[in-house]
Amino acid sequence: MSGTAIFASYVLTHRDGAQEVLRDHWVLLEGGRIAAITAQRPQAALVFDKPGRFLLPGLMNLHNHCFSEAVARTHTEDGNGRRNNQSIVYTVLLPLTRRGIDILSPQERLAVARLGILQLLKGGATTVMEPFRNGIPEMFDAAAEMGIRFYGAPYLFSTADAVAGSDGVVRYAGNDGQADLTAWNALYERWHGAAEGRIRLAMSPHATDTCGPDLLRACAERARALGVPITTHLAQSAQEVTTIAARHGGRSPAEYLDWLGLLAPDLLAAHCIASSESDLALMAARGATVLNCPRVFARAGTIAAFGRFARAGLRTAIGTDGYNMDLLGEMNAASLISKIVAADATIASAPELIDAVTARAAEAIARPDLGVIAPGATADLTAIDMTHPHLQPLGDPRRGLIALANRANVDLVVVDGQVLIENGRYLAADEAAITRAGAAAIEKIWALPEAQAAFAN
Ligand SMILES: [Zn+2]
Repeated sequence: MSGTAIFASYVLTHRDGAQEVLRDHWVLLEGGRIAAITAQRPQAALVFDKPGRFLLPGLMNLHNHCFSEAVARTHTEDGNGRRNNQSIVYTVLLPLTRRGIDILSPQERLAVARLGILQLLKGGATTVMEPFRNGIPEMFDAAAEMGIRFYGAPYLFSTADAVAGSDGVVRYAGNDGQADLTAWNALYERWHGAAEGRIRLAMSPHATDTCGPDLLRACAERARALGVPITTHLAQSAQEVTTIAARHGGRSPAEYLDWLGLLAPDLLAAHCIASSESDLALMAARGATVLNCPRVFARAGTIAAFGRFARAGLRTAIGTDGYNMDLLGEMNAASLISKIVAADATIASAPELIDAVTARAAEAIARPDLGVIAPGATADLTAIDMTHPHLQPLGDPRRGLIALANRANVDLVVVDGQVLIENGRYLAADEAAITRAGAAAIEKIWALPEAQAAFAN
């Protein structure tokens, strides 16, 4: 006998293109595929039979940073590390990650990567898109070893030494673009398609203000030759808008990317909070995707409302940006922040938010085999245990999921038919050991004088 059978009280499927929640069904997995969805208990070698589960397509977290946000963790809340309440990207994240790469051993960097991936899996994600410095190739090793579906996105910079002046304009010297493209190509050769295709690359020019026109054009050309998605940071701050206008003839960051041919259905643009309404209309017309990460901005008192992008007609997916890495919590924040900003309770509904981390996210990376529970689809699944007291009584499970659930309710996580999380615990290694080793490595970075200085501001 072969296969894995999972019982769920609620199974999210689709009929005629719309979500449908089936009651009391079994999902049968054979190898890495979904074989059947049945009301009768199927024969299978491995059986997970527990009432109360809500079985969803594997949740997709399309913007995360395991490493740089670990450096910032618990040091940058309440305004620490911010000058004049501005972004910590140039004061904390970029410089300290760069130093951290230099002072940590490969084994310590691997420990940080493992800690991040453990959090992602326990946060319910089966797929992550992870932009990171190309000096942390251990991200790939950890992803391959731990079983997550991984779109590694090693950064490319025109310079890795961008600094923001007191006028808000980001300046840089030197040209790292060619070296970064060479490094990216080497990682592509080494990793793309590894672990039975679970490991892939995305092209990741870091941001509009750290990448010049030549590098962005070269990135787009290479990505399209290989058919890999392109992801970048776009309109993250007012400072970036000022910088791009000063450098590129008054263009907005979105207009700058459009000028270079990057605004297209294969572009996933993180944040976009400083975009104008006409920028959003332009992005929607080009078919680009916005990656919305509401909580990391809420930390700074800044609005990043899912509903604003969705209402502009943009395909909008959700990521955790390395902060918290709890995709269920992030969806809850996306719901609440969108409703507050619009002063409208109908904005960012539960089905819409679930779609954003499943079917729509799969569409954004051109993977119709992901994001759905259907015969023939890839067997990536996330199951939430809806029997917790705070989730009972339960009328509509989709509303319960968005309004009331959190990562502690993640029960099963399955990637490529492999059960990675069961009863909320990672099966293949000792969670406590992974956590201790990752935290110890980050604490070495925190002990640096420049880290102490950056956090003190
Ligand atoms: Zn980011």
